[in-house]
Amino acid sequence: MRTASLFAWFGIVGLGVGCASGGDEAASVAFEGGTMGTTYLVRVVPDVGVVVDEAALAEEIQQVLDGIESEMSHYRSDSEVSRFNQARHTEPIAVSAQTFDVVAGAIAIGRASGGALDITVGPLVNAWGFGPEEPAVLPPDGARVQELLEATGLDRLELDARIPTIRKALPEVEVDLSAVAKGYAVDRVAETVARRGHHRFMVEVGGEVVARGTNPGGRPWRIAIERPTAEGGIKEVVPLPRGAMATSGDYRNVREVEGRLLSHTIDPRTGHPVTHRLTSVTVVADSCLEADGLATALEVLGPEAGYALAEELELAALFLIRGEDGSISARATAGFESLRDGSPSATGLE
Ligand code: ADP
Ligand code: MG
Repeated sequence: MRTASLFAWFGIVGLGVGCASGGDEAASVAFEGGTMGTTYLVRVVPDVGVVVDEAALAEEIQQVLDGIESEMSHYRSDSEVSRFNQARHTEPIAVSAQTFDVVAGAIAIGRASGGALDITVGPLVNAWGFGPEEPAVLPPDGARVQELLEATGLDRLELDARIPTIRKALPEVEVDLSAVAKGYAVDRVAETVARRGHHRFMVEVGGEVVARGTNPGGRPWRIAIERPTAEGGIKEVVPLPRGAMATSGDYRNVREVEGRLLSHTIDPRTGHPVTHRLTSVTVVADSCLEADGLATALEVLGPEAGYALAEELELAALFLIRGEDGSISARATAGFESLRDGSPSATGLE
């Protein structure tokens, strides 16, 4: 039995989120629940004198998340993305504005990463046993992988923002938004909370996080990065004064086939699961969609090429690499080092 779910839980949790007051701690309100096969946590520190309508905000958060799930989950055969995938023609297909935005955002990250993030890999994800249905043959043979590769690639989708519509270049093309949907959901929930007038909060869905303002103790929110081993635990805690943090990894969503451990991250260049020693990579970015997509892209590229791209794009990123002996070593980009130090250039705070 594998532990996989489409939006597998991943290794970041919000720290410093103990429920309220005492000492100099400000009061805070927490909202928790389930979505996309994982859990979420929202913590809000209301401004002085502000009363939070908890029931209304709880409902609004759940609605935002349910809306995204019903449009973007390919585990639900009636979702918009599933219906898009089931269509076997090359006429333009109308999609919601938010699905369009996620597809367009993911394609932009895909291009910035030289095609490492590729939302058309869905049929290959399924063929390797990480999709909604168990494949009849596992692992797929070389000919099958080649055949599926034919229908993948960022240029297999044609976007028209006016209606908006997406057209498939070939009838078999499919879209898998799992690598970015949680990050997008975090951004949308953060928008919702901010629209209600709050300035201090953190939002976490399945390990992807957005932070705004300061925590109940008046300091930057502190986010724990999980140790990517079977025993778990915390590798490191970093301050996140603002922006988003997401992690991608090979240590939770894996399955064993013919004695080999397969990762759920597919290299779009080969059509095979990645095999390098990059066990997890955490990325900080302005939006969580970006952080989530970039983390998956770097996880595809691996410890060398991924690190080089992260430095080239001046990303704050932490690579956790598994040694031959099973030990974990960390490699941080310059941007991530400044985040650790809490330096003003990394945080934008004076
Ligand atoms: P998680 O969802 O577990 O946090 P990711 O954000 O890295 O992890 O997303 C992994 C999921 O994205 C896979 O389960 C698969 O559905 C899909 N996927 C796998 N490889 C790629 C890829 N190269 N580009 C885009 N999506 C991918
Ligand atoms: Mg991702």
